Amino acid sequence: MLAMYKHDLITEHMSYEGFLHLVAVNNEEYMLQFLGEIGIIASEHQCKFCGANIKQRKQGKNWYWICMRRVAGIKCNRGKFPIRKGTFFDNSKMSFQNILRIVWNFVHRLNTKQCQQFCGLSTKTDHTVGEFYGDCRTICTRWIWDPKNMPKLGGYGKVVEMDESFFPGAPKYNRGRRLGTTWEDDDKWVFGLTERGSLDCVLKQVPSARTRKILLPIIEDHCNVGTLFCSDGWKAYNKLAEHLDLEDCQHFPVNHSENYVNPETGAHTQTIEGLWSHVKDFLPIRGMKPHDLPDYLGHFMWDCYCRQRKLDVFVKFLQCAAETRPPVIFKTQTITTNEQVPFLASSWSRGYHRV
Ligand SMILES: [Zn+2]
Repeated sequence: MLAMYKHDLITEHMSYEGFLHLVAVNNEEYMLQFLGEIGIIASEHQCKFCGANIKQRKQGKNWYWICMRRVAGIKCNRGKFPIRKGTFFDNSKMSFQNILRIVWNFVHRLNTKQCQQFCGLSTKTDHTVGEFYGDCRTICTRWIWDPKNMPKLGGYGKVVEMDESFFPGAPKYNRGRRLGTTWEDDDKWVFGLTERGSLDCVLKQVPSARTRKILLPIIEDHCNVGTLFCSDGWKAYNKLAEHLDLEDCQHFPVNHSENYVNPETGAHTQTIEGLWSHVKDFLPIRGMKPHDLPDYLGHFMWDCYCRQRKLDVFVKFLQCAAETRPPVIFKTQTITTNEQVPFLASSWSRGYHRV
């Protein structure tokens, strides 16, 4: 039966029907198996007292890992702990299903109010929808900024556009006062890089000075050799190709005080300028604190990463959460024999280790 379930587990793409099936009330074993498969909760644990493989059991409303091993007719029954302990689900007492509903709404870009209404959640939960959204943004941001995940932009024959944008600017279409809070000098400017023909981008808050010393290392860290760069005439970009520690790069500036497309080279920065309006539309209409901007930018970059690769955002998010916040798994080296258990139980604390 379990083997059949395993075969049916959908860990690539999740339709809305598939999602409803996952969070159905009477389907918790399937849900836990799915989450174990993704790696966001442990798929197995060993009892830290006797070393047996322990099982998932429901007691009352909650799921636990419990040792069901019998020693001389008596259940070991120790080392019981909640399945959610040490996992992404640890922040709250809310059901797994409700937390997954919040995640679903987060990755599909509903705002917190819509999410609350869709999930039928009270505003007085111990960890609010807003706080969950904040946790989710942090996960996206930590994942995308991990050097092993962050895509490199450009390369031979590819164009990367760069620009900086002032974020306390007037909100588009006068929709509310998104930027009503005070902005520190280091919060106001964002430096962006984007590869033409790709959705991948790098967005990083930079101090107002936006000097060459600040911008060049960002370009070097995130772009490939051989890239053709386009920028406006900002002084930090002067003789960019010479200053960059990247081989075979060329630089085509556009002097925006004269024209938007360089008539000689055809260079322009219209891709990144279009991107800025997408980024600003991505921010909440109100209630964003400037120091939260890096996590909003991280979420935006993560979203672009997924769309560029046509990944399922729900499944990918859970995988990212599993990577950035892996469950604590107890594993013992060996399993004791029945006879040894009562005597060796205390010495087992040395025998197991946290992975
Ligand atoms: Zn045990």
